Amino acid sequence: MSRLTNLAVLMLLAGCSGTLGEIDAGHDDGLAPGTGNGQHDAGVAEPRPDGSTPGTSDGGGQQSDGSVPGPESDAGPPVDACPVGPNGTLDVVSVAVTGPEGAAPSKGDELTVHVTLRNEGKDGIAADLTVLLDSFRFDDFRSIPLASTQLTACPGESTVSLRGGPFLSDPITNRQFALGSGDYAISGVVLNRAGAVVTDSEFSGAAFNLATNNVLLVPVLYNQGYFEQLEGDFASPEAYLEHAFTRRNEIFTPDNPADPDGNGQFELYEGGFDQMMGVRHVFKAFIGFEGTFDSGEEWCYGAMDYASQVLGLKARWGGGGTRNDQHGFDYVIALSSNKSGGVAWSPFDVQVSGFIDRDVDRQQIIAVHESGHVFGSPHCDELGNGEGSNLQGYVMCAGEKHGRYPESFVWHTESRKTMSSRWN
Ligand SMILES: [Zn+2]
Repeated sequence: MSRLTNLAVLMLLAGCSGTLGEIDAGHDDGLAPGTGNGQHDAGVAEPRPDGSTPGTSDGGGQQSDGSVPGPESDAGPPVDACPVGPNGTLDVVSVAVTGPEGAAPSKGDELTVHVTLRNEGKDGIAADLTVLLDSFRFDDFRSIPLASTQLTACPGESTVSLRGGPFLSDPITNRQFALGSGDYAISGVVLNRAGAVVTDSEFSGAAFNLATNNVLLVPVLYNQGYFEQLEGDFASPEAYLEHAFTRRNEIFTPDNPADPDGNGQFELYEGGFDQMMGVRHVFKAFIGFEGTFDSGEEWCYGAMDYASQVLGLKARWGGGGTRNDQHGFDYVIALSSNKSGGVAWSPFDVQVSGFIDRDVDRQQIIAVHESGHVFGSPHCDELGNGEGSNLQGYVMCAGEKHGRYPESFVWHTESRKTMSSRWN
């Protein structure tokens, strides 16, 4: 009998947290390069006949969007908006940042940046524009490209809107970042006019805040073998985990606490783990977690080291809640076909989910089980007869033995009581 309990060991090893060595930061040795810096909308800056500054008086919700979504080709900027010529200037007047639908932005959002430009000449100016972002909370988060576009700025004042996030990459250092909560500023707007590059950092509206919310920004480290062997097709590793964390869960509460597996009530969470915990996982996958390790502890260290490597952290991934030195990410999930079962290390905010069989249901219950540990839950075996023999239906024991599985992942209420999100 295969028991997840035996394979997924919550390790609370004394004396480890003070001895974590530094590792090299910012490796660029061919592993998992970053994938883009947000959305690139080719567009024409739209003249604003009234000369008004967007985003400062109307709440940011109704202003016109100067960007014209176009094909992601190298066709270059449209040139029919106004004649492009040598007699023009380009100055950034103001910026304004909003979340989706013009709302105030918060953690994990894709951001929209409205950049208002002034051209005091009589010709249109063609330029590439890149918006740079600083975080006042997260280390290394300086002048990170948020979004870029090509534009033609016609004479007068015009506004172009760009979108980027929640995951960003520095193309120079290959460090990876996430838009966690905290204070930010647009630190510069890079204007490239036919190779003449100027960074404008004098404009209004640069500072903004991302409010905290229930979003969890989770790097997913994986090896290709995991998805090659998995008996199911998903559009991406992110889609696979979104499915795992939003499929139906239930919480079982026994009528008599002394009989933890007796009669009781089931509370349904159609939105799965995320709804049950009041969180929203937002995943960013990084391929290349190819290692194999001899012990659960080594697996956790391996995932922590690879997280540091691929994210470009200065030190080994450490966890303990959202830290200022982990580039805005909250906790680490690693997926490996080389791992039997799974392992989690709650104090360091890391879990590794491997395989028991290859079916989607079982592998996904391993993944949520291991996150159950990261959220603070021990196994639930001790709730039963002390040997776990009558609680194997519940997620933090094994989970696949419940009569409602696989339609539901059933959690025992005593497990749920121990779990919380400590990230912000
Ligand atoms: Zn476990």
